[in-house]
Amino acid sequence: MKKKPANEIQDLQYFGEFGGVNPSISDSSTYTFLSAKSMSDTFEGNTEGCYLYSRHTSPSNLYLGEALAAMENTESATVFGSGMGAITSTLLQLCKSGDHVVSSRTVYGGTYAFLKNFASKLNISTSFVDITDLNSIKNSINSNTKLIYCEAVSNPLLEIADISKISKIAKEAGIKLIVDNTFSPLSILPKNLGADIVIHSITKFINGTSDTIAGVVCGSQDFINQLRDVNDGASMLLGSTLDSLRAASVLKNLRTLHIRVKKHSENAMYLAKMFELDGIRTVYPGLKSHPSNKLYESFLNEDYGFGGILTIDAGDLKKANSLMELMQQKNVGYLAVSLGFYKTLFSTPGSSTSSEIPEDEQKQMGLNEGLIRFSIGLDNDIERTYKVIKECMREVKLI
Ligand code: PLP
Repeated sequence: MKKKPANEIQDLQYFGEFGGVNPSISDSSTYTFLSAKSMSDTFEGNTEGCYLYSRHTSPSNLYLGEALAAMENTESATVFGSGMGAITSTLLQLCKSGDHVVSSRTVYGGTYAFLKNFASKLNISTSFVDITDLNSIKNSINSNTKLIYCEAVSNPLLEIADISKISKIAKEAGIKLIVDNTFSPLSILPKNLGADIVIHSITKFINGTSDTIAGVVCGSQDFINQLRDVNDGASMLLGSTLDSLRAASVLKNLRTLHIRVKKHSENAMYLAKMFELDGIRTVYPGLKSHPSNKLYESFLNEDYGFGGILTIDAGDLKKANSLMELMQQKNVGYLAVSLGFYKTLFSTPGSSTSSEIPEDEQKQMGLNEGLIRFSIGLDNDIERTYKVIKECMREVKLI
């Protein structure tokens, strides 16, 4: 039977300290010990259930981590102050000077910039590959390669990683597969397909209210312990800690993720189909015209659909900008980066979230300057929204 990830979240039972239906929020950066010995034992990692300092972890952060591990079907999880905190800590925990990474070339611009410009300063090199080309992944692995990195649904080109096949390649080479699942929570369970570590920018769909920056790493208990280790743990030592108050508010939002994802997907599917019928070049993994539509369908948790992100090609940046400005004026949504909000958000990744990728490389991977990425909102009447977008498209002469 297929796993139902939302049930895993819903079946967790927490009571607050005073019987509240939400767990009590830990409002402390430090914790008392009843004996000096239990303090030193805790620092050596020998005490279960004791907290030492909130950069290490806190009750609120553990509750959120537990819920996200349940969602992703991993043994454990630890939360971070941002998605980038989760990504960079994972990469730096696994790689040392001289190591090599094979990464999808279409990943979030910040991840790309970290690997290309920052990790290289630490003598960690990266080969960027077309993640849909399994041979090129295989051929890029060398004796120093430590891991393969990709996004389940890539930002912003919406390429779909064949996680099962890539995980086979990783296992054969004795290296780890790390999957960023930010675009497809609930719809895809990378761990079930063979990923070793699953990462999210919580900032997006998981939180859903565009009021918080946060991230999570889901993996084995052993790896999560390594991240938190007081002597050489990247989460503990690099300090990208999530504040407990924010963790508590994300946990409350997480409980409606399944309803939100269904609605984002339903609305995105409707608009993608209509845009395509209107002759607009539209990319959405739910469309039959998407090159990986069948692949995505084969592992999709169908309750949740193909996700809330689609792109259209407006031809050039000028037209894309005019369309976005007009759509904002007509209250279709906001001209803003990020995703997973109740309101539709749109931006041109080539000059924003992927601007870290040099222009010639953007061209090579098919990232045109006129590409608009939409994070489709929770509109109750998507047909009305479509009509307004169509008026805007007519006005800027896109159709
Ligand atoms: N991963 C993906 C796919 C993203 O789109 C982003 C941000 O846009 C990140 C990671 C980084 O997350 P954060 O902004 O929470 O650091």
